[in-house]
Amino acid sequence: MLDIAGAQRFHGHMCPGLAIGIRAAEIALAEIGAHSADEEIVAIVETDMCGVDAIQYLTGCTFGKGNLIHLDYGKSAFTFIRRSDGKALRIVARPDAFGPPDPEWSALRARVFGGKATPEEQAQFAAAQAQRTQAILDAPLDRLFDVRPVEPRIPASPPWPAGQAGQGARIMASLTCEECGEATMETRTRRFNGRTLCIPCFEAAEKRW
Ligand SMILES: [Zn+2]
Ligand SMILES: [Zn+2]
Repeated sequence: MLDIAGAQRFHGHMCPGLAIGIRAAEIALAEIGAHSADEEIVAIVETDMCGVDAIQYLTGCTFGKGNLIHLDYGKSAFTFIRRSDGKALRIVARPDAFGPPDPEWSALRARVFGGKATPEEQAQFAAAQAQRTQAILDAPLDRLFDVRPVEPRIPASPPWPAGQAGQGARIMASLTCEECGEATMETRTRRFNGRTLCIPCFEAAEKRW
């Protein structure tokens, strides 16, 4: 049984995005295997939204363990790789997985997120979201997702040096930012005017330039 209540507690609320993550985790657990106590399973997530919390909570692939990799593609797509035999699946939410297109709902959503909704509209939106969430939790998995076997390729992009991607604790050289003096993972430093800076200092320096 999926610990849906636990995922909701971990995330802080129930929402359509969390529900998508719960259902994707359901496929991962059935097809790729059990809760990842070690770094046996690697998850590559192409979004950093709500659903990833369900992935972390239910599959045990977490940023801290280094077996959760984020690609900033803005897609509800989740790839799971089993290291032992290289079995790998990419699970992508279908365009209508969150519900059919609904201009009325879109307009309501815009007002709520724009801070312009009346209390009635907020309640109306909350009810609509609860309905969408339940529909996702109840839907057959093959209506929500396309699931395809993929090459078990783990991205070697920063901050994972080639060959070390997703391999648990990462040992990384740190440099000291020449502006704020804080130790910063080397792959996260930037060069600016001959100085080594952390990202916030680099961005501030660029603005002053
Ligand atoms: Zn959420
Ligand atoms: Zn700095």
